[in-house]
Amino acid sequence: NNSLSLFGLNVKNTSMAEAVDWITHSQTQPNKTQIVFFINVHSINLSISDPKFFNQLSNANALFADGSGMRLAAKKAGFLLNGNNNGTDMLPHICRSCVEKNQSLYFFGAKPGIAQQAANALCNQFPGLNITGTEHGYNEDNNSEQIIESINNSGCDILLVAMGSPVQEKWLLDHRDKLQCKTALAVGGLFDFYSG
Ligand code: UDP
Repeated sequence: NNSLSLFGLNVKNTSMAEAVDWITHSQTQPNKTQIVFFINVHSINLSISDPKFFNQLSNANALFADGSGMRLAAKKAGFLLNGNNNGTDMLPHICRSCVEKNQSLYFFGAKPGIAQQAANALCNQFPGLNITGTEHGYNEDNNSEQIIESINNSGCDILLVAMGSPVQEKWLLDHRDKLQCKTALAVGGLFDFYSG
């Protein structure tokens, strides 16, 4: 079994390669978007003070452990975490795997222009990478239907949502039934990091 219980949450105990494989392969449930969150010490703290957020985390299809703080927490609980599955290190691996497996991405979130800049930078770095669209994360809430339509019409396989916790997690769970992509990830400040 490649998962363990940390702070009441079922966290995957995977190497980076296994995590990437899970994300770019999660097609086991046709017509059901697999929701992926990354949890770090910050989200654990938030989940303890905010039971709604705890519930949201526990509703994901996969939780990956992000950061060395999680490794320490696991160690304290008597487990050895196999890898640091943080999203920042993982994105280039996801991009490489997407090129190999012919999977496409969509970037939703961050300030206007940032997701597109990150997409351009990654497409330069990974020839053949298909990013089917980008959308910024400062839209009015009632705009979600339009954004979902644009995500679905783009035909992307994997959606990355970057609006910070807990907004991004809530957005994904609220809309999971309307999304048509195979996998959707909440990725925090990732587009800022890769926008250059
Ligand atoms: N963000 C957004 N919409 C908002 C608020 C924040 O798209 O209404 C973006 C923000 O521009 C940044 C990301 O969400 O790119 C949050 O990054 P942060 O590092 O704060 O998130 P964390 O990784 O700590 O959850």
